[in-house]
Amino acid sequence: MVTDTFCVLTSDINHIPLEWRLFIDSSKVSLKAVLLRNGNALPSIPVGHSVHNEESYENMKILMEAINYDKFKWQICGDLKVIALLLGLKQGFTKYCCFICEWDSRDRSLHYSRKDWPARKSLEPGIMNVGNQPLMEPRKLPSMLLKLGLVKNFVKAMNPKEAAFTYLREKSPRLSEAKLKEGILIGAQIRELIQDEYFDKLLQGNEKSAWINFKFVVKGFSENRRALNYEELVHNLLQSNQKLGCNTSLNIHFLQSHLDFFPENCGAVSDEHGERFHQDISSMEKRYQGKWNCYARRLLLDFDK
Ligand SMILES: [Zn+2]
Repeated sequence: MVTDTFCVLTSDINHIPLEWRLFIDSSKVSLKAVLLRNGNALPSIPVGHSVHNEESYENMKILMEAINYDKFKWQICGDLKVIALLLGLKQGFTKYCCFICEWDSRDRSLHYSRKDWPARKSLEPGIMNVGNQPLMEPRKLPSMLLKLGLVKNFVKAMNPKEAAFTYLREKSPRLSEAKLKEGILIGAQIRELIQDEYFDKLLQGNEKSAWINFKFVVKGFSENRRALNYEELVHNLLQSNQKLGCNTSLNIHFLQSHLDFFPENCGAVSDEHGERFHQDISSMEKRYQGKWNCYARRLLLDFDK
């Protein structure tokens, strides 16, 4: 494990932890942590960046300790994978990969049909896929990257030989073919695609209905206010994903079984945060390759003024 972790001394930041959220983004090569002010009134503060060659619990632990998470206990946001890692769950396509219930992710015959599973009884290491001590308290997440997860599922299920996929490829020249096939689009690209009528026209059959139902869910469920019929919208999306042949990912399982886990206004704020976070981070990385820590410190000084 090669780990290079840069962190800001969080105790130097004069702030009220309840007013901030810790946004964590993890990939195979790096881990990034940024403090976001609730309500978007202040700029975000990058507090930690770890470069490594493995996405692991150990790296997450180093970062959490370095930024003093135990002292401040900020509300955490991140995608379901990040949350699962922070809760000590083993990675990969494991049988019990949900941290809320005993969903058997390997039993494909029950995907899309069984909604209710017994609640998980503990997050104790050694039991039901828990490998390590949780690094955070399990609680409702204010902000989920559900939209990103759902788009990922959709793009992965698209037929790469069809015109709609070709269009997506031409539209996103900066995305590598591999990333596109993995369905990795960022918030701003998704927002643009949602408004793209030409993309709608190119889609056919099951792909078209899955996309249209996804858009209804974005509008009626994951934005700031929930539509009265949001459960029906979610149900329609699940049905069309099934027809399209999407596997039940953890994201889809949450949509199917844990709608309660998403508080009322989980959508717009988190997406906006997520988008800004990705933009901030990529411009920081471009400008301050290897000198990220200096940048973070300077930003912190500016923030103090
Ligand atoms: Zn579950």
